[in-house]
Amino acid sequence: MGARAATETLRIAETFVSIQGEGRLVGTPSSFVRTTGCNLRCHYCDTPDTSWSPAGRRMAVDDLVAFCAKGPRHVVVTGGEPLLQPAVAALAARLRARGHHVTVETAGTVAPPGVEADLWSISPKLAFATPDGPQRARHERARQAPAAVRALMARGPWQLKFVVRADARAAIEADLAEVEALCDEFGVSSSDRHRVVLMAEGTDEDRLRAAERRLAPYCIERGFVLGQRLQIRLFGHRPGT
Ligand code: SF4
Repeated sequence: MGARAATETLRIAETFVSIQGEGRLVGTPSSFVRTTGCNLRCHYCDTPDTSWSPAGRRMAVDDLVAFCAKGPRHVVVTGGEPLLQPAVAALAARLRARGHHVTVETAGTVAPPGVEADLWSISPKLAFATPDGPQRARHERARQAPAAVRALMARGPWQLKFVVRADARAAIEADLAEVEALCDEFGVSSSDRHRVVLMAEGTDEDRLRAAERRLAPYCIERGFVLGQRLQIRLFGHRPGT
């Protein structure tokens, strides 16, 4: 009974319906299931209530499926790190069996067996994400797991989303060198570079727009996609969007 309950519930920060603001499905109306709990501690984390100070409640897979049934076809399972929770496999399977398109957003540090998705949105963290202080060592131990990223990429359609600094030329070039090295390590082919999305760090609309202008020439030169954060343009930086 106890084991069954543990695999049939997830720790959830919030559920809501909105517009997908990032990646290949930007603009798509979607239900969002945001899990809480993360094995990383990015210094810029824009959902600290799922990582630095995890909050939320346990919800049954049944209730999450029922919530999504009332919303759009597309569902985004995000976090935090959803792949830390065993019941995400059951959630994704049941949603897909009902005809939903399921995107799983992950930092790509783990690849538990049995989880399937229609789009793997993998966001490995670059070195600059590492925080100072007591969480530094733990974050660094978990941050890069190339075998896990490759395993997820092999499961189905994927995109790689990299948050990069775009406030100065030196920072952009340092981060893009890291992105290029990771793409090599993950086996990204030249024909797959349009699946690699660069997103400027930041949650302020004016700052983002300026950063995107600085990033655009690099995307043109290298064949990466210039990512946006439509949700910030539409709603500002706040929960439930
Ligand atoms: S992986 Fe995502 S949720 Fe976890 S700390 Fe980094 S930005 Fe926050």
